[in-house]
Amino acid sequence: MAAGQGTRFGAPKQRVPLLGRPLYMHGLRDLAAHPAVVEAVLVVPPGEEALYRTELLAAGLGAVRVAPGGATRTASVRHGISAISDADVEAIVVHDAARPAAPAALVDSLLAALDHASCAVPSLPVADTLRWRHGPGGPDRSAVVRVATPQAFRAADLVRAHARAEACGDEATDDALLVEAVGGRVAIVPAVAAVEKVTTPADLAAAASRLAGEAVAPGPLRMGMGLDHHRLAVGRVLVLCGVPVPGDEGLEGHSDADVALHAVANAILGAAGERDIGVHWPDDAPGIAGMASAGIVTHALGLARAKGLRTVQAQVVLTAARPRLGPHVPAMVEALAALLGLGRDAVAVHATSAEGLLGDAIEAHALVVLSGGGFAPVYTTGAGTAGGPSSATG
Ligand code: MG
Repeated sequence: MAAGQGTRFGAPKQRVPLLGRPLYMHGLRDLAAHPAVVEAVLVVPPGEEALYRTELLAAGLGAVRVAPGGATRTASVRHGISAISDADVEAIVVHDAARPAAPAALVDSLLAALDHASCAVPSLPVADTLRWRHGPGGPDRSAVVRVATPQAFRAADLVRAHARAEACGDEATDDALLVEAVGGRVAIVPAVAAVEKVTTPADLAAAASRLAGEAVAPGPLRMGMGLDHHRLAVGRVLVLCGVPVPGDEGLEGHSDADVALHAVANAILGAAGERDIGVHWPDDAPGIAGMASAGIVTHALGLARAKGLRTVQAQVVLTAARPRLGPHVPAMVEALAALLGLGRDAVAVHATSAEGLLGDAIEAHALVVLSGGGFAPVYTTGAGTAGGPSSATG
């Protein structure tokens, strides 16, 4: 949900830069990479769909659908639900763009809790003593929680709750309240500070240091290397690190043949102890024809994240007899940093001509460093059993 106006920031809050990318993109990226998520919908201020689509495409999130928001948050959520193309989806996850994380382990816990509830919400503790505004005393702070997002819903229950809300003209700051209004049961799942909302510029600074801290989270460093070659071919568009390089020749391949991103994906998979992209994406895999290879990298990142691994650093070395790649290196660094969620100083792209020894091909080597650990499995759902929906939309 990125349709708000963010009046306290003086600008749409979801667009405020946080560690090199707009605020909304952090949580969206987490959700899009989650293995259970089959489709992601971004709800944006009406009229700004094209701006967001362009940004998503550049960030390797071109598969995310964009929907215009409504006059209220409740209406915006309804628009988002309407934009889901998969009618058979079992669960829907609703997340606010103002919260710069949707940790995979938390999403897992929320989905698992749907075995026993219509909806599951993450909770944050209340640190301060609470008082009634009028009258003595106040509620026991251990008896109350602050509710955050992402929130997970059985799809049918959320659709039913919103249909009733629309019919009654009911509005809520939280979809769980609407689900309760139709008799749904709400499960409360303890969350981590990563899902704290960014409301003021001070919150933004706190979120930046939290996320940066996670990027260098303690835990063993895991290195992966990747290698790929593609043959030069006349009449193809040359794309390297997601950046189009003008010229008469491109690379042969089933996807966009971005040899650099294939090497990067292999390096991520290697560091995560996974097999190579040829196993994960055979040439005849559905949807592979002409696909942007950023999708392959994003999926590899999702597999790594599911193991609690985060990207720390990446380097690509390109060997090409032609064309001259030097002038395009800064754009490649920029694109690769955005795709991997890294600062520019954690990414390097080198290009060499190999003195003509390579022939009619481009070769890419990649080294990616991941850090282990990630989020400790401290979540409790009370659900007791594993399982839960096999697919979800976030
Ligand atoms: Mg390849």
